[in-house]
Amino acid sequence: MRFFIKNYGCQMNSYDSRRMADILISAGHAHACSLLQANLIILNTCSIREKVDGKIFSDIGRLKLLKEKASGNFFIVVVGCMAQSRFSDIVRRTPYVDIILGPQNIHLIAEIVDDIIKNKVLDATISTSEDAESKFRQLPNKFSDRGVSEFLTIQEGCNNFCSYCVVPFTRGREFSRGVLDIVQEVKNLISLGVKEITLLGQNVNSYNGEGRGRRNYSFPDLLFELAHMDGLKRLRYTTSNPRDVDENLARAHKEIEILMPSLHLPVQSGADAILKKMNRKYTRNEYVRCVEMLREYRPDLAFSSDFIVGFPGETDADFQQTLELAESIGYAQAYSFKYSPRSGTPAAQMPNPVPEDIKSERLQILQNLLDDQQLKFNQNFIGQYLNVLFVKEGRHEKQLVGRSEYSQSVSSTAAAASVGDIVNVRITEVASHSLIGVIDQ
Ligand code: SF4
Repeated sequence: MRFFIKNYGCQMNSYDSRRMADILISAGHAHACSLLQANLIILNTCSIREKVDGKIFSDIGRLKLLKEKASGNFFIVVVGCMAQSRFSDIVRRTPYVDIILGPQNIHLIAEIVDDIIKNKVLDATISTSEDAESKFRQLPNKFSDRGVSEFLTIQEGCNNFCSYCVVPFTRGREFSRGVLDIVQEVKNLISLGVKEITLLGQNVNSYNGEGRGRRNYSFPDLLFELAHMDGLKRLRYTTSNPRDVDENLARAHKEIEILMPSLHLPVQSGADAILKKMNRKYTRNEYVRCVEMLREYRPDLAFSSDFIVGFPGETDADFQQTLELAESIGYAQAYSFKYSPRSGTPAAQMPNPVPEDIKSERLQILQNLLDDQQLKFNQNFIGQYLNVLFVKEGRHEKQLVGRSEYSQSVSSTAAAASVGDIVNVRITEVASHSLIGVIDQ
């Protein structure tokens, strides 16, 4: 088969899509460069917001036409979080979908595709039967082409049950992969030319995996374990939970040279009343103290975050507290969203919904503040040098695009450099969400 994977949503889905490609290629299937060249279409779905589900259903609908035109030997596969949270809707609304697999079953993709091709089975709908542990145990140690910067899932699932979130229902309970398993995968990626690895987990810093001598490794333990791996130039991680930040993590940022000084630390709201309703299990002051402690160890640490505005019951005063918190931290970059109810989550039943126009107004005010902060953060680097890993070619001739140590997007017209190089770039200009610079000869 010629397969094409369309990825939606988070970095963890990107990682799963990479692994599915590895499995299918090692099973003899070919990777198609575009959807129209393929006859096995895999949609790796996300289910974070109702709107996303709607978009995916219309994408599936468009595939129906291609399937009818192909009249056989054309298969549609839906995997990922929406396959988990909405599989009975998918079966009912789009019966022409051949395979539906939950995120913990991606390791079965080649086996099931072969069963379908050989008509051993008519279709396959498999959801939570397996957990993350068996998934990672069965993922093959085979890796196809990689870029210079790659994701690596070290922990999956979540035990926190924030009141607005579907992840615990789609990705299951927290599971941390073994240290030796992770080390081996890092070695494989380095052998394929990877220079930078971003460790992934829903709560990556609550990692708690078995390591050498069957000792339990915390997340900072794992970082120190990976700190001196030959060929690994840069290490990053996401997404952290403020509750699991401790001094060992701060020490890691001070002592590990390849650990990049940028940390994504979602806060969601600046009001304790809302944090309580969200079941985030930390207060505003605890969050602020956590940032202060990290800055004591690494003063130049660049923080990014996530915010939800318009959560049920959010008052003007609550929103004001969110603005004040963002001002007090000063983010290098941050993402903000209007609250959107997810059926099946406790928050969807909560009283006092915030009217849509108020949500939009608050979102605009917060985004303006966060954009200002990002601009100010970036303007500090005019005339300074940033250490940039070039990850791809830009749109213009000889232009390269990369990432600084602070996770800023940096472009430069560089005859002397190429993708994969880590170069000191002198910053000459600031664009809305990126930087432009030159490489001094
Ligand atoms: S910590 Fe909360 S928001 Fe994050 S994945 Fe878990 S339940 Fe969802």
